Amino acid sequence: MKPNYHYKDVAETYLFSTVAKKVSEYSSANPDQKILRMGIGDVTLPLAPAVISAMHEAVDEMSKKETFKGYGPEQGYAFLRESIQSYYARRGITLKTEEIFVSDGAKSDCGNILDLFDADNTVLVPDPVYPVYVDTNVMVGRKVSYMQATAENGFLPMPDETKKADIIYLCSPNNPTGAAYSKDQLQKWVDFALKNGSVILYDAAYECFVTDGAARSIFEVEAAKRCAIELCSFSKTAGFTGTRCGYTVVPEELIFDGMSLRKMWLRRQTTKFNGVSYIVQKGAAAVFTEEGEKQIAENLSYYRENAKAIAACMDECGIPYTGGKNSPYIWLQCPCGMTSWEFFDYLLEKIQVVGTPGSGFGKNGEGYFRLTAFASRETTQEACDRLKALLKQ
Ligand code: PLP
Repeated sequence: MKPNYHYKDVAETYLFSTVAKKVSEYSSANPDQKILRMGIGDVTLPLAPAVISAMHEAVDEMSKKETFKGYGPEQGYAFLRESIQSYYARRGITLKTEEIFVSDGAKSDCGNILDLFDADNTVLVPDPVYPVYVDTNVMVGRKVSYMQATAENGFLPMPDETKKADIIYLCSPNNPTGAAYSKDQLQKWVDFALKNGSVILYDAAYECFVTDGAARSIFEVEAAKRCAIELCSFSKTAGFTGTRCGYTVVPEELIFDGMSLRKMWLRRQTTKFNGVSYIVQKGAAAVFTEEGEKQIAENLSYYRENAKAIAACMDECGIPYTGGKNSPYIWLQCPCGMTSWEFFDYLLEKIQVVGTPGSGFGKNGEGYFRLTAFASRETTQEACDRLKALLKQ
C-alpha cells in the first residue's frame, strides 16, 4: 500500500497549538494573572430556547415506537430544506429544495465538495485565507495559487485576467479579515467565472453578520446559479459549532461538460453520507421559526455589540482595521511595525489579552492580528479597557 503522499505537502499548522502552548506557559509562570481570550472563532452563548425545545421534542419522538426515526434522507429532511428555502426566499432568492443539501457543517462540505472536480483543475484562493480551502486541495494533490487580499484592495481581491482558475474560493464576510463583498463586486466575479468556465465556491458562513447592505449570498447575483456553489452553516448564525449542522446549495443550472454538479453531489452524498441526526435537524429548523429568529437575532446583536466595542477601541487607539461591521472579526494592523507574533507576545506579556496572529492565515496576514467578538461582554469590555490603556500611549 502506498499512502497518499500529498499529505507530506500539507503545511503543519502550528497556529492554534502555538497559541495554546504560549498561553499555557505564560499562565503557569504567572498563575495570578487573568488571561482574556479574544482569539477564538467559537461562539460562547448557548443555543436559543426555541432550538432547545425543538430538540427536546425530537428526543421524545425518538423514545416512542410511533414517532421513532431511523435513517433519514441523505440530503436532509424536507422540513429543514423547506425552512432554508424560505430563509432565502425572504431575501428574494428562489431556490428549489432539491438544490439544498443539509450536512454536518460547512467545514465538511468544503472538503467533500472537491469530490466533484477533476484532479487537474487549478485553484485560486485569497491570501489571507481560511486554511481549510488550501489544505483540502493540497491533500488531493492540487496546486493552489493565491490572489492578494491587502489593505490596498480593502482585503477584497477582484478578478484578474492574468489569474484564471477552474475553482475559485470566495469567503464573504471573510474569515479572517472581516471584509465583505458588495453585490456589484460579486457580479464581477460571476461574470469572470462565466467567461472562463470556472466554478466559484462561495463560503457564506458569516452571512448573518452583514448589516450594511453587503451581499449575504452569491445568489443575489442571478447568473451565479450558472457558476457558483454556496456553503453555509448554522454554526455562527445560531451557535451550532458543537451541535453541527450546515447546508450547501448546488443549483441545477450548474452543468459542466454535460454533467450536473447537483446530480453528482446528490450521488456523492447518497453514497458517502448518511445524513444529519433528526434531533439536530429539528433544532436547525427551529432557527427559522418566528420565535427562533427573534432569539437568534438577540444573540447576534450581543456579538455585534462586542464587535462595535472592539472597533471603537481600535478607533480610539488610532489602529487601522477592517471587519467588525459585517463580521465578528476585527482584523487590525499591528502597531509600530510589529510582526503578528511580536504583537501576540506583547499583548500576552503586557495585558494578558490573547488574539490570533494574522500570519497564521497566509503571507499577507503578516503584520496583522485577529480579534473576535465571540467572547462574553465582560471579557470583551475588560480586554478593550486594557488595550486602550496600553495602545493609546
Ligand atoms: N467557513 C469558514 C469561513 C469558517 O470560519 C468556519 C469556522 O470557523 C467554517 C466554514 C466552518 O463551519 P462549520 O462549523 O459549519 O463546519
